[in-house]
Amino acid sequence: MMYKGKNYKIQYRRLFLLLFLAVTLLSSILFGASYIIAQMQPIEKKPLAIYTKHTSIRSDSVKDADQIIAHYFPKGKNPPPKPPIKTDRKIVALTFDDGPGYESTDRILNTLKRHDVKATFFVLGSKVEQNPEMLKKIHNEGHEIASHSYSHPNLTKLKGEEINQQIKQTNTSIKNTIGTDTIYLRPPYGAYNKEVEDISKQKIILWNVDSQDWQLRDTEKIKNHVLGSLKPQSIVLFHDIYNSSADAVEKIIPELKKQGYEFVTTSQYIEIMEPK
Ligand SMILES: [Zn+2]
Repeated sequence: MMYKGKNYKIQYRRLFLLLFLAVTLLSSILFGASYIIAQMQPIEKKPLAIYTKHTSIRSDSVKDADQIIAHYFPKGKNPPPKPPIKTDRKIVALTFDDGPGYESTDRILNTLKRHDVKATFFVLGSKVEQNPEMLKKIHNEGHEIASHSYSHPNLTKLKGEEINQQIKQTNTSIKNTIGTDTIYLRPPYGAYNKEVEDISKQKIILWNVDSQDWQLRDTEKIKNHVLGSLKPQSIVLFHDIYNSSADAVEKIIPELKKQGYEFVTTSQYIEIMEPK
């Protein structure tokens, strides 16, 4: 009995060893094969920008891109391919949200003026009413002005009537201050849906480079993050309500000029990217 038991043990050991070898071999073959296949096929990158009738600029966040695909192309339908961009120009649109601020906005305006750069300011209606003089200054210095809602709510969480009020009140504040209509909307948090689009009747403008200035609040970090994420044809999101953003913009602009970037407003960006 003792002898037989030992023999079984040895046989089990052999069986385990064989099994172990087989599994190892099989998994390395599978791993190798999948690696080779992956190398042969170009990796399909998630779209950073989805182009639809109203929407041309999407957030860098993959999650957002998926959400927008689900929104516009439900039930697994494939989104249409992006129309080819008919430019190899190195353009960059600097955009500033949540203002008009006070000192920081003024400093940004001075920097833009010194470098002869035009930018876009997505303003809050409530801030416009607090600081109309700054809006006039932005406008008089040749920058583009667009809406960022009245009080910065997540518009997708509001009722139709409330969305309407956010849009209308902002448009009225802007029109009363500088006399022009607002054709672009950047919804707070980049959050919008069909209802927001339909009610606002404005073109939704998001961004493809987030400076993360609201979070970093550190000049060097903002500068490095923007310069590291920038690619030709970028819309960069800043907030003109922080001095660290003003400092960062002062450092970023000369660097981008050195790299051959051309600065454009949102309208110019759309004209170049979506030629009619
Ligand atoms: Zn905002």
